[in-house]
Amino acid sequence: MAKILAITNQKGGVGKTTTSVNLAASLEAAQRRVLLIDLDPQGNATMGSGVDKRVLQHTVYQVLLGSQSIADVRVTTTSGKYDLVPANRDLAGAEIEMVDLPQRETRLKAALQAVEKEYDFILIDCPPALNLLTLNGLCAAHAVMIPMQCEYYALEGLSDLVNTVKKVRANLNPVLEIEGLLRTMFDPRNILAQQVSEQLQQHFGDKVYRTVIPRNVRLAEAPSFGIPALYHDKLSKGTQAYLALAGEMLNRDSSGVGPVQQDHDQKLEA
Ligand code: ATP
Ligand code: MG
Repeated sequence: MAKILAITNQKGGVGKTTTSVNLAASLEAAQRRVLLIDLDPQGNATMGSGVDKRVLQHTVYQVLLGSQSIADVRVTTTSGKYDLVPANRDLAGAEIEMVDLPQRETRLKAALQAVEKEYDFILIDCPPALNLLTLNGLCAAHAVMIPMQCEYYALEGLSDLVNTVKKVRANLNPVLEIEGLLRTMFDPRNILAQQVSEQLQQHFGDKVYRTVIPRNVRLAEAPSFGIPALYHDKLSKGTQAYLALAGEMLNRDSSGVGPVQQDHDQKLEA
C-alpha cells in the first residue's frame, strides 16, 4: 500500500513545492512508484513537472467535486517520470463549491482509494494556508512532512501547524502523524539559521530530518525548464540533498524507526 505524505506548511514560500517535485523525482530514481498531487491553485508543482496548467481540461478540481476520477486526470510526466494529478486556478473555486458537499474534508481520501495500490508513495503538495484544500490533504495522508526555513518566526508558525495536525488526528484522521521536519534553503553561514536549527532539534529530536536542503540556485532554476533538478543538474548540491532525503526516508521506513507521536507531543507542550 502507498505511503501518503502531505507536504505542508501554511507559511508561503518555504519550499513545499520544490520539495514535492524533487522528492517525487528522487523516489522515482530509487525505483519507487510515485504519484504527486498538486493541491494548490497556483499550480506550481504542475508547471515544475513540465505540465502546462493553462491548457488542462481536467485537474484535481474535478476530482474533488466528484465528476472525474484520479485515473482520468493523472498524467505521466515526461520530465520527472512520476505520475501527476495537476492543478490550476480552477481549484481556487473548489473551496466554496465543496462547502455544501457531503464529506467535504475527505473527498481526496475517497478518490485516492482507487489508485493507492498502484504506488509506493503519494505526495500531496499543499497550498500555503490551513484551508479546506489543505484539510483534504491532511485527511488523505498517513503523515505530514513540514518543510521550513530556519528563520525567527518559523517556530511560532510551527506550533499552529502542529495544533492543526492534532485536531485533525482527534476528529478526522486518527492515523495522521508528523513524519518529519525538513530544513530548507539552509545557509550554514547564517548564525540565526544555525540557532533556529538547534532549537528545532531540541524540540523535535529525531523528527528533524538529518538531511538539510541547502540554498541552491539549481533548485530555483529547474522549474523554469519544467523539470526536477535531478534532470537539470544531477551533481548540484540541491539535487544531491533531495536524493539523500529520499534515501533517509526509505531507510527510516525499512528500519521501522518512525517518529514517535507521543514523545513529540510532550516535547512540544513542554
Ligand atoms: P508556496 O507557499 O507559494 O506554495 P512553497 O512553500 O511551495 O511556496 P517553493 O515554491 O518551493 O515554496 O519555493 C519558493 C521559492 O524559493 C521558489 O522560487 C523556489 O524556486 C525557491 N527555492 C525553494 N527551495 C530552494 C532552495 N533550496 N534553494 C534555492 N531556492 C529555493
Ligand atoms: Mg508551493
